[in-house]
Amino acid sequence: MTVDSDAVTSTVRISDFVLGLPKCEMHLHLDGTLEPSMKLDLARRNNIEIPQSTTAQIRESFRFHDLPTFLAVHYSNMNVLWTSRDYEDLAYSYLQISAQQNVRHTEMFFDPQLHTSRGVPFPDIVNGYRRAIVRARIDFGMSAELIMCFLRDYTAEYAMATLMEALPYKDWIIGVGLDSDELDHPPAEFSEVFARARSEGFLVTMHCDVDQVDSAEHIRQAIADLHSNRIDHGLNVLDDPDLVIAAREKGLGFTVCPLGYGTHPCGMAPELERIHAMLEAGLKVSVGSDDPPYFGGYLAENLQACIDVGGFTEAELVTISRNAFETAWVSERRRVELLEELDDYARRHGLPA
Ligand SMILES: [Zn+2]
Repeated sequence: MTVDSDAVTSTVRISDFVLGLPKCEMHLHLDGTLEPSMKLDLARRNNIEIPQSTTAQIRESFRFHDLPTFLAVHYSNMNVLWTSRDYEDLAYSYLQISAQQNVRHTEMFFDPQLHTSRGVPFPDIVNGYRRAIVRARIDFGMSAELIMCFLRDYTAEYAMATLMEALPYKDWIIGVGLDSDELDHPPAEFSEVFARARSEGFLVTMHCDVDQVDSAEHIRQAIADLHSNRIDHGLNVLDDPDLVIAAREKGLGFTVCPLGYGTHPCGMAPELERIHAMLEAGLKVSVGSDDPPYFGGYLAENLQACIDVGGFTEAELVTISRNAFETAWVSERRRVELLEELDDYARRHGLPA
């Protein structure tokens, strides 16, 4: 399967510095990387009827104005994914684009319930993704891991059943997460699932989306009650100085997604100001691309937006990459390798290593 030549929809020019920066991505939904050309190819391959017949029409259909409308568009696109080979192609395409942007390590979310709820066998999903990871290691020298997310708008019982299905694949799944619509679904609803996941050796992260009802309380639950190792988004940590202190003391990572915030009512700039404030508060913020075809770019485009829209400096981008490598779920040996690469790059550009 070919990579979509129109994969990067952003017209933003990426600077040589941003492109060459050694990067680490930890907020990326594999299910959300379905480019229009791949949707078209998979629909043909699997004999699935879809309402569109061109990539332009499909891209036009990627329209939404808030989280629920985004999820409705995104979830309906999943209907073209059926076989192990489909999942392999989806992940490999993302890994190939990321390698071209010098992403050196990535930890990729996947939501099996989007597929098992339609009748796709769990092993087909995981086997496909795993093959892509192994090929990317060989082809591009990059490392990649899988994080299995539970959809919080399904029940905790379904999440637990999904966790049980994942146990034979523990070696291939480094951690578990929580995503989808946060309204009326606080982290506490899934406390038993995450406790069991931790006891099985999975690391833990979870989405605490921006400006949700009770956002700060959800972050508190994630940190204090569910012992999350990272928070995805979590900009509302700034609402509570005690949370900032707790997160800083734990060295907790926050994965933020600038282009995704472009769809917020206030636009991207105020959210980048919050991210800047998080960095200044000493929090370990890193950047991810969330769902690239929907938000207009991969990791490099997101980092470029930090410069172009948020006024971030090159030194701050080095800090963001360093935060990512420091909070990544890699072996200490791999971490040292990645940090050395970053330090070399910073020195060559006259920046503090
Ligand atoms: Zn996300």
